Amino acid sequence: MFSGKTEELIRRLTRARIARQRVEIFKPALDTRYHDRDVVSHNQNSIRSTPVQSPSEILLLAGGACDVVGIDEAQFFDETLVEVCRQLADQGIRVIVAGLDMDFLGRPFGPMPALLATAEFVTKVHAVCVCCGELAAYSYRLSASESQVLLGEAEAYEARCRPCYLAGPAARPLIEAARAAQAPVARTL
Ligand code: ZN
Repeated sequence: MFSGKTEELIRRLTRARIARQRVEIFKPALDTRYHDRDVVSHNQNSIRSTPVQSPSEILLLAGGACDVVGIDEAQFFDETLVEVCRQLADQGIRVIVAGLDMDFLGRPFGPMPALLATAEFVTKVHAVCVCCGELAAYSYRLSASESQVLLGEAEAYEARCRPCYLAGPAARPLIEAARAAQAPVARTL
């Protein structure tokens, strides 16, 4: 979240389109936070996509008919996505998958661990910790909900580094103090 992974996905797919490759983009049908059909980044860049209920639909819709398949919010799909991506790649299709690697409890998220293991290339993009400005790998949930899937409204999560994630609510005063002093919270960025 807020790490630029959707931005990076859109950038790569846009370049493939410029190269006149046939591109298809899919996302889980449950992810309609910003738009029903488009994949939209936090910066409001967007690209037309097809919402699907299950990974098997991706195989039906894209298999043999395109050069590049993009998949966003992959963490929300079930484990069958791994086999679908393998079959697409075996057909010579370039498969570009974006997803959150960990849920709000720091647990590997859905099919992401197996996708990371089987991909030829992995790019791990980081957000910036809202508390201290270090690189952030964790999603700190501000609400008390225990559900793994709570769609990422901007106010529901914060990107945090490991120490600030572990500090929990105690890390908040750092943000408030920095805001009050109008001082930058970042040390290294
Ligand atoms: Zn931090």
